[in-house]
Amino acid sequence: MTEQRPHPAYAGISTFLHLPWVEDPDRIAELQPDVAIVGAPFDVAVTHRPGARFGPRAIRAASYLQQTGLHHLGFRIEPFSVLRGIDAGDARCIPGDIQRSHEAIRAKLRELLAAAPRCVPIVLGGDHSITYPAAGVVADHYQRRVGIVHFDAHADTANDSWGVLLSHGTPMRRLIEGGHIAGRNFVQVGLRGYWPGPDVIAWMTEQGMRSHFLYEIEERGFEAVIEDAIEEALDGPEFIYLSVDIDVLDPAFAPGTGTPEPGGLSSRELLWAVRTIVSRVPIVGMDVVEVSPPYDPAGITAEVAHRVVLEAIAALAAKRAGR
Ligand code: MN
Ligand code: MN
Repeated sequence: MTEQRPHPAYAGISTFLHLPWVEDPDRIAELQPDVAIVGAPFDVAVTHRPGARFGPRAIRAASYLQQTGLHHLGFRIEPFSVLRGIDAGDARCIPGDIQRSHEAIRAKLRELLAAAPRCVPIVLGGDHSITYPAAGVVADHYQRRVGIVHFDAHADTANDSWGVLLSHGTPMRRLIEGGHIAGRNFVQVGLRGYWPGPDVIAWMTEQGMRSHFLYEIEERGFEAVIEDAIEEALDGPEFIYLSVDIDVLDPAFAPGTGTPEPGGLSSRELLWAVRTIVSRVPIVGMDVVEVSPPYDPAGITAEVAHRVVLEAIAALAAKRAGR
């Protein structure tokens, strides 16, 4: 029998940080993990460049780090000395079928939360349409006492894209229309560019959505905007779901995505924001979406997506440890 020391990050099976791969709900119920990685390998709902179905695998494989010896130098904490984490595997998405894929994501998250009701699922997309099933299940699990902080270049509040209701351009409208999240508890950061049009913006205003465009960040500074976003997120709901579309970053930092929009945040700004928000608001779920490895030749998009997840985990651990 060979010696059972931990593999380096590049060896063995690439679960997220080499966390144990646990799909069996009975085993999840025994473990009662604090956080669980869930893949949503699905990109049928994109409007431009595809490839995000390969995102979960690329994000898992992106890191030279693993749970052993992991020390966050800002918080001075070893996250998995405080938190129990698992990689719960992937939702069984159906190639070519949006509705059944969304249903598979719902089933996977419902199974996880039934087994471990206080576990924080961290969903790796996948295109952004997966936030409709993912945040919907988490919001319903907490009796809809949940708000969203949503980082994105795009509002994703269209009624439809070319008549498709479950597009990656529509999940935020479906969540609000479905009553899962109240419009006024929907906080958006980083919107920019040339879409959506005035009709969709008017709908967003009607819903009371709080949207912080990049132009506001340029005028007032990022820190002031994030302070406001935190206050707005806590204005009403008890819990927060965090949705990070990687295209909120400038394509210089995240080229591997389907609908890149120049003029975005830096990796440093986004990591700071995730760290600050998770430290201060009660997070019950999260997703990181729109990583498209075929457009990510140097792998930097998957790397930063991995760190966005890890920064949230470290902040959860720091909060748990009372830091
Ligand atoms: Mn999006
Ligand atoms: Mn986007």
